[in-house]
Amino acid sequence: MVAVQRQLVVFDFDWSMADQDTDRWVFEVNAPDIRRWIEDTDTDGTMQFTDMVAQALRDAHARGVTRDQLENALRIMPFHPAMIRAITNLKAAGKTSFLCLSNANSVYISVILKEKGLDAMFDEIVTNPAEWAPSGLLVLRRRIDPSGPQHSCTVGCSPNMCKGDELEAYFMRHPPAYARVVFVGDGSNDFCPALRLRSEDMLLCRSFGGLHKRIAKEGGLKCEVKYWTGAWEVEEIFKKL
Ligand SMILES: [Mg+2]
Ligand SMILES: [Zn+2]
Repeated sequence: MVAVQRQLVVFDFDWSMADQDTDRWVFEVNAPDIRRWIEDTDTDGTMQFTDMVAQALRDAHARGVTRDQLENALRIMPFHPAMIRAITNLKAAGKTSFLCLSNANSVYISVILKEKGLDAMFDEIVTNPAEWAPSGLLVLRRRIDPSGPQHSCTVGCSPNMCKGDELEAYFMRHPPAYARVVFVGDGSNDFCPALRLRSEDMLLCRSFGGLHKRIAKEGGLKCEVKYWTGAWEVEEIFKKL
């Protein structure tokens, strides 16, 4: 791998940086029947995903699930120690900026990054906005307000977020162009930004999940692709960047 002076690492969060899915995990810990409702509602496709999670949070709050319970669930969520080492060591080497680009939400991600000592490593976190109400309800909103103009992506991104557009917008905010972009992802919504990577860039695709399937079926990537299963493999690759 060639050494570069200025590179960007972009992380999807759920099942990429973290070894679980925040939106589902907090209910697996605190309200399994709401977790079932999410599964069934997501499968039948009757609600937009972020709206559905916001509704699940309201339902949990109404029955007395507390902020402490949700935050504690996030702090104990599976997160591989090799991923903490990989990010910490690459950041310490200089030259690398980190962006987290996730369809989870700002509260979930910041609670976990703080817990793992990684919050200062990230230049930006682009995700759905969330905040605690005084009552202890976590109020979650879509990144793109449903009443305003929507993104025009034709690759199949969900209504509230086109990660490809968000990645391009990040590049515009941080010129000049990075010598190399490394994108770590697993989900079908990571396919759109992966399509925008150049031949000098690299995609670290988790070998289970929707991204792998879309690459196999649709193709069209210009970047190098490395497949991985465990965070220890990401650590190995980061050591060579
Ligand atoms: Mg993911
Ligand atoms: Zn898109």
